[in-house]
Amino acid sequence: MSNTALLDDARLTRDEAYARAELVEIASYHIELDLRDAMDLNQSTYPVTTTLRFTADTEGSATFLNYLGDSVTSVNVNGDILDIDEVVGSARILVPNLQQENVVTIESHSQYSHSGEGLHRFVDPVDGQVYLYSQFEPADARRVYPNMEQPDLKAVFRTTMIGPDTWVLASNGEEIERTQVADNTVRVSFAPTQPISTYLTTFLAGPYATFEETWAGHESTCAEAIELRIFARQSLIDHVDAEELFDHTRRGLTWFHEQFQLPYPWGKYDQAFVPEYNLGAMENPGLVTFNEAYIFTSRATIAQHTGRATTIMHEMTHMWFGNLVTMKWWDDLWLKEAFADFFGSKAVADATELPGAWQSFAHQRKAWAYVQDSYPTTHPIVADIVDLEAARQNFDGITYAKGAAVIKQLFHYVGEDAFLEACRNYFQRFGYSTAQLRDFLGTLEESSGSDMQAWSRAWLQTSGPATLSATVSTDGTVTVHQDATDRLTGQTVLRPHKLYVSVFTLNAVNELENSSRSDVIIPAGKSTAHIADLRVPLEQTYVIVVNDHDQTYAQVAFDESSLDAVTNYPIRDPESTAVATVWSSLWTMVRQAEMPAADFVRAVAKLGDSLVDVSMHARVLEQAVMALKAYAPASQRKRLTKELGTALMDALVVLEAGSDRQRSAARALAQLAEGTDSLAAEATFLLAGDESSELSPGLQIDDELKWLLLTSLASLGRLDLARLDDELAAAHTATNELRYRTAVAALPDLALRAELWLEVFNGVDARDTPLSNAQITATARGLATSKPEFMAEQFQTLLEGLISIWESRSNNLATRTINGLFPMTHKPVKGGPAAQVKHPILVNIDAWLAQYQDAAGALRRIVIERRADILARLIAQSTKKK
Ligand SMILES: [Zn+2]
Repeated sequence: MSNTALLDDARLTRDEAYARAELVEIASYHIELDLRDAMDLNQSTYPVTTTLRFTADTEGSATFLNYLGDSVTSVNVNGDILDIDEVVGSARILVPNLQQENVVTIESHSQYSHSGEGLHRFVDPVDGQVYLYSQFEPADARRVYPNMEQPDLKAVFRTTMIGPDTWVLASNGEEIERTQVADNTVRVSFAPTQPISTYLTTFLAGPYATFEETWAGHESTCAEAIELRIFARQSLIDHVDAEELFDHTRRGLTWFHEQFQLPYPWGKYDQAFVPEYNLGAMENPGLVTFNEAYIFTSRATIAQHTGRATTIMHEMTHMWFGNLVTMKWWDDLWLKEAFADFFGSKAVADATELPGAWQSFAHQRKAWAYVQDSYPTTHPIVADIVDLEAARQNFDGITYAKGAAVIKQLFHYVGEDAFLEACRNYFQRFGYSTAQLRDFLGTLEESSGSDMQAWSRAWLQTSGPATLSATVSTDGTVTVHQDATDRLTGQTVLRPHKLYVSVFTLNAVNELENSSRSDVIIPAGKSTAHIADLRVPLEQTYVIVVNDHDQTYAQVAFDESSLDAVTNYPIRDPESTAVATVWSSLWTMVRQAEMPAADFVRAVAKLGDSLVDVSMHARVLEQAVMALKAYAPASQRKRLTKELGTALMDALVVLEAGSDRQRSAARALAQLAEGTDSLAAEATFLLAGDESSELSPGLQIDDELKWLLLTSLASLGRLDLARLDDELAAAHTATNELRYRTAVAALPDLALRAELWLEVFNGVDARDTPLSNAQITATARGLATSKPEFMAEQFQTLLEGLISIWESRSNNLATRTINGLFPMTHKPVKGGPAAQVKHPILVNIDAWLAQYQDAAGALRRIVIERRADILARLIAQSTKKK
């Protein structure tokens, strides 16, 4: 490749990164962002000055910086001003003639982002205030400042920001200096960081509301007190439950110090809740950013509070796993994410009073893993990540949820003491540096005395879950079977499992109750384990729950008797650990057409009220709606809608007035009513309802429920655009603006739909203003609420546009656009399950895949996964009950 072509290459390969790390060692960056004009929306860029100091091994050699900025005005290498045309491309800056010690200074302009990547700018519709925040992982720091964008080139970062003197200006380190540089304008400098990777640097600017507190410190680790701050937009100030957020933060800090025995290394602990955020949160040392949906503006269930605390703890885990010890390259992303997911749930369960952390891990987080692990695109937990594009795709259900599930199994397998000792040694040895899988396994081998290489090969280097099942002998004893084929290689992988197996039998009031439990080990390489001490009373109704307490990662298949029992009788299980395993398995069976969707919907209608765990109850109701709309044959939907709709209306009366579960039932009803004419009366009734109604006592119709119901009625054409306009005008907040978008797109007006479909497809609105990440998703979600044939009719246009969407937009915007517009609901063709691969939609997709074999791997992956989803739904719809 010529110089210029290379300088336009936004891909960064692992080989290039390794070569660069061989050549240079970075001492420090000094970055200055000038955001004084950020409030002027006509300005699309801001000035940045970046100075890097680094050493090079070979004098006279060259290296490069990564930069996706708007323009570069000056490149100064060791005092020489270089010719911009020669050294600056659209993605890289060439740094030639290296000396042993180098100082490089770049003057440039970077762009404000609307995709949530880089430095995002948001205008609050309530008060017109401008808010900025950054999001960099895995490789978007280069959208803000020129750098060497790879995790193993850690450096000390000194940052300064210029902005309005009334604003919060914050970065990783605490503020150390503030000077007035013009009227109403200040320059703020922040304390230099410990060595960190570029993806962990961060900037926050805007008139954020601030809450302050302290954590007192931790005696045995000699950890000093930490200043805590919370930031949120001014217009959300009344909704910030700072006391609860600080309480979880403090409990977490104490708990992690006890677990890891190493003081928090990053000075202050800020947590900022920011708008239009692409993820749940990001673990920037000293300044964690969160999706502001975690500031609850409508009534939130206890499950939502648990979910938020889990995210707080996930990010806190990263202060050690990820920030202190960082993966060398993105292959080992799971080395931080799996641990953060695992410890995130564990910290909530152990250190807070919130319920349901492990239950939602079992039936919600792991469901993500089981789905991802069933796709043709699945991969081993330890992935082969050749470049940044592949790295982005790896933030998936395998890296996070399956990784965490496997860590949970490992924790159970080697025991708490050995596991925590390994963590502590790992931090001591690799702190402020990078590590690879073998480094963690090495410390674990020392502390546990077990052979971790064999364990790692079986669990981390293979794909697909095992299926575990149980059989009963004539004497009532139980045998557990493992059936596992690697999805990619087709080979049998018999992994070691340590798990609980329980027997539930009917009690006097016809509930299934635990009658015995056994701790079982299936050794590596074995397909069965006989459990001599577990006996099933053959003459009674019973359920064998394999993987009670969810200690291992595996799908669970029920024998016929157990399946019959769990779909007919409530399970009495105060901790809901068996219930979580059971319902998670039933949902997998629906997706895989092993259980008719109708049976699942009926079981939920019958047993939903018996699910006491709030998050599981909500999730199972959502799954019932999904089973009905996407997996049940069209011919059964009317009847099932009546059954489920009646059950949900009954639940509003039967469940405690004003309770979380009543609210979940109302949400499910609103979703069931989308595009379902027979439920228009119920939706209208609820929307007009008040808390004193006998049919929904205590149910508060706040903004969230109101807009869910408005969307349902809009999708049925039971209200018009003018009504939606009025509703928005009455409470015009940022969140309601997105809800309004969804409701408008749900209206059946075909001309309007076509217009909005094109907006999403083109990524700009009618006035040519780019749509933000959140706006794209909100509009697409509305289009998908009803009239599935509409989305299907546009599919050819979407297919033909895929490549240009992918090439013209950021990865995140393109992904949202394509997923949002992909038509997911289709009628099966005649001929049963085997004939569905010939469905016209799949034929179309296959033709595209055949034609565009060289398309970006990440784009092909999205198309392949949506194909798999559509095929699964078609097969489920066309499977006749056995
Ligand atoms: Zn994480």
